[in-house]
Amino acid sequence: ATPLAMIRGGGAAAERGILMRSADAFQVFGHIDTVVLDKTGTLTQGAPRVTTVVTAPGRDERELLRLAAAVEDLSEHPLGRAIVAKAEDHGVDIADVDDFSALVGEGVRGSVDGHRVVVGKTGLAASAGGLGELARHAADLEARAHTVVVVLVDDALWGVLAIADPIRSEAADTVATLRERGIDPVMLTGDNERTATAVAEQVGITTVHAGVRPDGKAERVRTLQTAGHRVAMVGDGINDAPALMQADIGIAIGAGTDIAIESSDVILVGHRLMAVAEAFDVAADSYRRTK
Ligand code: ADP
Ligand code: MG
Repeated sequence: ATPLAMIRGGGAAAERGILMRSADAFQVFGHIDTVVLDKTGTLTQGAPRVTTVVTAPGRDERELLRLAAAVEDLSEHPLGRAIVAKAEDHGVDIADVDDFSALVGEGVRGSVDGHRVVVGKTGLAASAGGLGELARHAADLEARAHTVVVVLVDDALWGVLAIADPIRSEAADTVATLRERGIDPVMLTGDNERTATAVAEQVGITTVHAGVRPDGKAERVRTLQTAGHRVAMVGDGINDAPALMQADIGIAIGAGTDIAIESSDVILVGHRLMAVAEAFDVAADSYRRTK
């Protein structure tokens, strides 16, 4: 790992849980006009829980959870951990998986007891003929800020799981504080439009880009830069790494996957979203002092 730069102002920043990995970051903050925020794990706590299981006709809820949890047990995604926890609540044993693969920004797949299991975004159900009568349930849940994932077994839709990830308590204040400083907050997420919009409304963000794939996140940042903006990106996951690198300043938050941290200029070790806004103050103070 890169040694943390010991620089002027670094002390004040560190007290607030803000670690600057490069001395340049302080100066760049003064030029930033747009802050792009990932949703899951950044604006939300990244501590999701399965709230609802809806099975397709004739499918058993417990068996659905058993198959889904087996595959998700190998995933690093917070949604995966939520699904495993739900299955364990039901007393399900975690089965072995063959041929596991992570569909980054989409879901996971693997083979359990000879069954091909896929868990992930609702669009994956297209190959099984769509959501059918579960579509209305899914839409209702998404409008209430839940993330809905499908469980497919041997190419048949077995059901959907609704997952709620509480919004960070300081998210709305952070967004408001950024706005007061003339900075434009933008949400960027791999999650679907309805869920994304529901979360955005609750935190006061009006510009939302949903359904964005991991390479698409970096592309969005680049588009903003090409339009003349200076962009800070805040994210926590593997899927955010390319965008964190592309941004003028990459800020890693939360438990933060190693790859997100490696790709960032600033690390919020205190896990406080408000530190994003505070970083602008600390940077301005220390830059003023060095001039
Ligand atoms: P975000 O950009 O909000 O952090 P991701 O790009 O990580 O979201 O994920 C986008 C979407 O892909 C999720 O909302 C979910 O629908 C699906 N997904 C990703 N990983 C998994 C997983 N392990 N299990 C189920 N669904 C997943
Ligand atoms: Mg995330």
